[in-house]
Amino acid sequence: MLKSWLSAFIHLIYPHNCEGCGTDILNEKSFLCTKCLFQLPQTGFISNANNPIEKRLYGRVKVEEAGAAFYFTKDGLLQHLIGQLKYKNNREMGLYLGRLVGNQLKATHRFDGLEALIPLPLNERKLRVRGYNQSEIICEGIISVWPKALITDAVCRVIDTATQTNKSLTDRWENIEGAFAIADATKIEGKHIALVDDIITTGASIESCGRELLKVKGVRLSVLCVGATNL
Ligand SMILES: [Zn+2]
Repeated sequence: MLKSWLSAFIHLIYPHNCEGCGTDILNEKSFLCTKCLFQLPQTGFISNANNPIEKRLYGRVKVEEAGAAFYFTKDGLLQHLIGQLKYKNNREMGLYLGRLVGNQLKATHRFDGLEALIPLPLNERKLRVRGYNQSEIICEGIISVWPKALITDAVCRVIDTATQTNKSLTDRWENIEGAFAIADATKIEGKHIALVDDIITTGASIESCGRELLKVKGVRLSVLCVGATNL
């Protein structure tokens, strides 16, 4: 009783509005009203093999299963939500997005064989500025509804690839070679792991990091992302 009164009171002082349409929503852990959540463009990739993400990575890095939960478009709602996580210090948003991905994973059996999630490592400079790795927060959100191990110290980023955004697609692919290194192989040996990132575009980072992970004995690799761009 006191708790619900208190939460209503807090809500009065700090209104919690839908990030999509601005309507007042009561659930403190949601960022979208039901209507906006349904309008978020689902890809269906997580439950379907041979989806465009698997095709995008085909021949570049060997993946068991790959999927992204939503389409990512410039100026779309998902871009706004990801922006909150990456540039507005909104970790709760990362947990929320992770739970949305986790719920899709729960609804299919395609990824049931996975043993651990590995967030794509962020370079040191970005980590210092942001204070956290957004992909790690997404992982935490995923495993809160779909329990799996989280491994953050098996692989690290060794080259700062920040300048790559100004380069052409081919340059970017070459630029990212050797950007990652295994830090502790024993953490992932013999495991089926999923590399997790916020948005997959060309897949260059996933390819580069994934190739390093696959050098470890017995590793099988899958890929999970919140959003996917159309190329
Ligand atoms: Zn809304």
